[in-house]
Amino acid sequence: MKLRNKINLYTAFLFAILLLIINITVYYSFSKLILDSELNTAHNEMQNISENIGKSLVTISEGILLRSYVPINGMIQIVTKDNNDNSAPFTSPGAHDLSKRKSVFYSNEVSKTIEYQDRLYSFESMPIILQDGSIANLQITKSMETATNNLSTLRLVLIMVTLLALIPVLISSRILSNLITKPVTSMIRTMTDIRQSGAFKRLKLEGNSKDELFQMGQTFNHMIDLLEINFDKQKQFVSNASHELKTPLTIIESYASLLKRRGLKEPKLFSESIEAIHSEAIRMKEMTEQLLMLARHHEQWNIELNQLNIKQLITQTIKGFKNAYNRDIRFVVENDTPLFIETDEKKLKQLLFIFLDNARKYSDETISVELGNDHDEVYIKIIDHGIGIPEIDVPKVFDRFYRVDKARSRKQGGSGLGLSLAKEIADAIGVRIHLDSVLGAGTTVTILSKNFEK
Ligand code: ADP
Repeated sequence: MKLRNKINLYTAFLFAILLLIINITVYYSFSKLILDSELNTAHNEMQNISENIGKSLVTISEGILLRSYVPINGMIQIVTKDNNDNSAPFTSPGAHDLSKRKSVFYSNEVSKTIEYQDRLYSFESMPIILQDGSIANLQITKSMETATNNLSTLRLVLIMVTLLALIPVLISSRILSNLITKPVTSMIRTMTDIRQSGAFKRLKLEGNSKDELFQMGQTFNHMIDLLEINFDKQKQFVSNASHELKTPLTIIESYASLLKRRGLKEPKLFSESIEAIHSEAIRMKEMTEQLLMLARHHEQWNIELNQLNIKQLITQTIKGFKNAYNRDIRFVVENDTPLFIETDEKKLKQLLFIFLDNARKYSDETISVELGNDHDEVYIKIIDHGIGIPEIDVPKVFDRFYRVDKARSRKQGGSGLGLSLAKEIADAIGVRIHLDSVLGAGTTVTILSKNFEK
């Protein structure tokens, strides 16, 4: 069943039940009130009549007396104990049938409602002493037709009210269900459109109300924005990756065919080709490793967080780097107190290597590494005095495959993936990175991490 119909049905059903409970309660309370009051009046009348009859029996005959007290729509009679000497009942014109009802003698006063031939009557029985000294019952049976007529009118009114009240309920539940289902249906339509066309579409958000449904629409649109951004990024990434891999493959292919044709005859060409193929193969290997790492989620990186003496770690990294590239690196430590941070050793080394490698590639002078403590944060600065980055490019250098000077970066063996990988690593091991650069003056990369004092 559709959501709209469910809302309609449940609302109408619940409201109908509520109305029914209220109306039934009203009806029964009212009918009890009316019948009780009728019975009370009949009882009071009976008391008066029995008193009068008791007094007048001496002077006036029983028959005349009883006839004068016949109720408008009912019967009066005297019932004796053994039911043999009963006087004939006196009935009003419309109530002759009552006389056929079997009379019963009661030893006490009785006041109750009875049903006879589908009609409701009040029945009063009062013991009286007859002229001969015997005890008999004076019984008056009186129709309660007016009360029952009133009650059936009330019943009709309540049924009508229940039915009439259901009309606004149905209308309001329809409005409510429309209000709820409209954005949902529009969302479903947009989703179907997206599925069929493959295009990222947004919901049209109408109205000024900032209710939950509006928020749901907004969240949906934000989600689509994010999906589109990610989708574009992925598309860009795949096309960049294939483009980047195509270049070294073309170089390798052209050198290989050169070797095939003239390699054996020209030893100089042979060594040049082998050199080029080798360096391109290394670049491709590095690039694919970086790509694989970027493609994997942080959880798959096997991060192990430990408290590390950061000075020791930097000294080791610099030593390894100096050996590999034979570059001059100056290590400056702010003070001699050992500094500890909680991080993954291997990944932090990899991070330092990326920044040191960039400093090496894009500068010729001595590279400086500074270690210090600012408030409760440990900082590591990698400073070079090289070509620097134009201000406009600084925010973009962390994007995948972004290179300020493509030709120069390629010549240096760069792929444009180093800094984006650095950003991912920093996020994964819980450190922050900051890059400052002045074109022509140099670049400073700062790594910041919480100080863990031992
Ligand atoms: P690449 O492998 O090309 O170096 P990165 O992601 O490491 O890729 O860097 C992106 C771009 O940022 C580089 O191509 C380069 O233009 C610029 N860059 C990064 N570090 C430096 C630096 N220390 N000095 C100057 N330019 C830099």
